[in-house]
Amino acid sequence: MPAKILDGKAIAKEMRRSIPAAIEAIKAKGIQPHLVSIQVGDDPASSVYVSNQRKSCIASGIQYTLRTFDGATTEDVLVAYVERLNDEPSVTGVIIQLPLPAGIRAARLQALIRPEKDVEGMNPTNLGLLVQERPIIVPCTAMAVFEMIRYAGVDLRGKEAVMVGHSPLVGKPISILLLNSLATVTICHVATEDVAAQTRRAEILAVAAGRPGLIRGSMIRPGALVIDVGINLVEVREEGKAEGPARRKSVGDVVFDEALEVAGQISPVPGGVGPVTVAVLLRNIVRAAALAAGIDHPPFDPAF
Ligand code: NAD
Repeated sequence: MPAKILDGKAIAKEMRRSIPAAIEAIKAKGIQPHLVSIQVGDDPASSVYVSNQRKSCIASGIQYTLRTFDGATTEDVLVAYVERLNDEPSVTGVIIQLPLPAGIRAARLQALIRPEKDVEGMNPTNLGLLVQERPIIVPCTAMAVFEMIRYAGVDLRGKEAVMVGHSPLVGKPISILLLNSLATVTICHVATEDVAAQTRRAEILAVAAGRPGLIRGSMIRPGALVIDVGINLVEVREEGKAEGPARRKSVGDVVFDEALEVAGQISPVPGGVGPVTVAVLLRNIVRAAALAAGIDHPPFDPAF
């Protein structure tokens, strides 16, 4: 029987349902959720992302300000601006769009954002709090993977979980979330000698390597839950045609058709982790505003 496909758009829609009530509760405390997004230079992909971000925020009742800087801006100017936003009570969330121009250190700027306003959860304090099992804001993609596992109805406790990828942004925080839920976690990376030997044991397999075709059907344990985080643009041609115009298509790291025959549940690309990540970002923005409003139990407490 083919695997059940986890519909990221449907999960995201469900997650967004609780946002309006949370925003009302925050406004009742006299706080307007307000995200400031910082964009430096004019990277076209980043501009598309920013425009979608604005639409999602406004549709949810979140005030949105985009502050653009030209590509020649110095790091010191950006540092001063982030510090100003940290001290500005009317700003409840701050996000720095990547990529930044060469010479500007993203990690330095992200580390400066006050943890309570760090809606991407990338501040070292937020990552440290996650390790200590008392997070306030969790990195969006990692939380999206965790939510998909929850929606799949899989209890992580005591399960064999394998994470392929160990980046600070994606693989490591996912591994920590799995570990905090008492899964037995193995982390594979570019130096792992036999990735297949590890993935074949996985009851839960999360993949974030950015390598299309890395995980074949033969590398998956029958019945496993497979979450594919990878987003890769590949060129494809019509079947049977070696020549002619190619079109670009977004695929994950897992060979989807093969995995479908082996896995129990699987997230597709596109339409899997991506939309859920956007929903988590919105929730993080609302969470940050709830913290600013002094709400004791901020909404959407991560389930750990
Ligand atoms: P990265 O390049 O920082 O890290 C890649 C990781 O994969 C590293 O740990 C590396 O060691 C490992 N790796 C690479 N090749 C490998 C191999 N052959 N075998 C085993 N491990 C290997 O990438 P990242 O920022 O973590 O992103 C990973 C993927 O996730 C990318 O495709 C990216 O586009 C995607 N992504 C998706 C979302 C989303 O919302 N869906 C968000 C962020 C990133």
